[in-house]
Amino acid sequence: MKTVKVQAKVNQELCTGCRTCERVCPVYAAELVKEDKGFHVEIDPSLCVGCWNCEQRCPEHAIAMVACEPFDISTDVSLYDYGQIKELCRKARFHPKQLVCYCTATRAEELAAAILGGAASPEALVRATGVGSGCGIECNQTILRFLEAAGVAWERKKGSYQWMGRTMTNWEVPAEVKQKYAGFRFDSDREIMDRIVQAPVEP
Ligand code: SF4
Ligand code: SF4
Repeated sequence: MKTVKVQAKVNQELCTGCRTCERVCPVYAAELVKEDKGFHVEIDPSLCVGCWNCEQRCPEHAIAMVACEPFDISTDVSLYDYGQIKELCRKARFHPKQLVCYCTATRAEELAAAILGGAASPEALVRATGVGSGCGIECNQTILRFLEAAGVAWERKKGSYQWMGRTMTNWEVPAEVKQKYAGFRFDSDREIMDRIVQAPVEP
């Protein structure tokens, strides 16, 4: 869950049309619009979740975060079958109550509920829960793991830097790698994580 209080605004005078903002936006809210005599960048306020990604990466400092009428983005977990939520969380190898996005305090159960509610892409999950709208780093893999566990096929927007492929988890490390780097204790770490995933859910 996130309360959005600021959104991105472009100073068209400074913008050079490099498209960096388009490529880093987790919800594809920024778009370069070509015109007869030039271009301008549009940011769709109905999509922008105030993550600051574009503001921090614009090489011309052409983007400012400005106050907006605050609004919440969240999915109400109680609307969905909790058995299905648990099943999906465990398939993605998370405990339902596990915090998966520290920036927005989003728990695994909310991601599962959002997917049950129809979120079928990384950007849809961001829009449905606020996950991934903080640092834009820590929970990216979590988002991809949930979509994969749910069997959701999605496509990254061409040219975008967001939502690159999923990286390997501890459950998938090949035997030869474990053997070569035995000091890393892959198996004992995995056993601890399995216990966390399977722990009972407190009411
Ligand atoms: S990143 Fe900045 S300069 Fe580049 S297109 Fe976006 S607003 Fe314009
Ligand atoms: S602040 Fe974040 S969500 Fe809003 S346009 Fe910039 S990158 Fe996209």
